[in-house]
Amino acid sequence: MNGERCGFGATMTDPRWLVDEMLGRLARYLRILGYDTEYAQGVDDEAIARRASEEGRRLVTRDRRLASRSPGALLVTSPYLLDQLRSVRAAWPSLRLAPAFVRCTLCNGELVSVRDDRGEGGSPSSHVYRCPQCGHRYWEGTHTRDIRALLRTLEATAPP
Ligand SMILES: [Zn+2]
Repeated sequence: MNGERCGFGATMTDPRWLVDEMLGRLARYLRILGYDTEYAQGVDDEAIARRASEEGRRLVTRDRRLASRSPGALLVTSPYLLDQLRSVRAAWPSLRLAPAFVRCTLCNGELVSVRDDRGEGGSPSSHVYRCPQCGHRYWEGTHTRDIRALLRTLEATAPP
């Protein structure tokens, strides 16, 4: 994956994240916000720390020992998504708080905009995004309303 590419909603200076497997929802949300986020699953601590260093990713983990092995790692202790997002925001104050539709939440693929060719005529929104890697499709709907609501809560409770 070429990390230098620059989709709308993402900038060259964005951090790239490597999120450990205890933080699956947080990984999904970072992708929703447009961040290049890989999810470390089923690999040992050493391999995770090595991958973060090799790929220039900032590790986000709930594991204190793992955090201490990876320079610049972000330790997130809360089991709650909102608090986890707050921790990321505390470490990265310029964290975007709007869904960006540039990353697939399932596989981190870069989404492409496609015409709605499935004939979902009932929806006024014809903006559909497709992941070329896994084929998953995304569009504005109930799901994104829930996401926006959660992000608004985060924004409203941000420290000054
Ligand atoms: Zn995908």
